[in-house]
Amino acid sequence: MINIRNFNRSLFNNRAFIMKYWIIENSRIPQALSLFINIWAITLYPFIICQGKLEQRTRTHEIIHLHQQREFLLIGFYLLYVAFWVWGALRLRSFHAAYRAIPFEQEAYANDADPTYPLNRKSHSWIKFIRNEQ
Ligand SMILES: [Zn+2]
Repeated sequence: MINIRNFNRSLFNNRAFIMKYWIIENSRIPQALSLFINIWAITLYPFIICQGKLEQRTRTHEIIHLHQQREFLLIGFYLLYVAFWVWGALRLRSFHAAYRAIPFEQEAYANDADPTYPLNRKSHSWIKFIRNEQ
C-alpha cells in the first residue's frame, strides 16, 4: 500500500527557512525508473519516493538532493546531473561507476550518515566533489 506522509519539514541552509517535502513509500516509481541502475529511492522535488520504507540514512541522502535541486531551480539540477552522468559513463565505461562519480551523489553519499548535515550544509557544497573520483 502506498503511504504518503505530508509536510515533513527540514531547516534549510542554517537559516530559519522551512523546506516542505513529501515522502511516498512503497511506490513502484523507483523500479520503473531503474533503467541503468537499480533505484531504491529517488527525489523528484518536492517528493522523496521510495520502493519500500524510507530509512533514516536514505532519507538524509534524499534531503541533500532536495537542497541541491532547489539550488538549481530543479531543471538546472537535472540537466547537470545527466551531463555529469554521461560524462562519467564515457570516462569510466560503467553506468554505476559514473553514477557514483556524479558530484551531487558524492556529496550525498559522503554526508548521509549525519542527519544534521542538511541543517548545516552550505549552499552548492557539491562543488567540492567535482572530479573527486572514488
Ligand atoms: Zn543520490
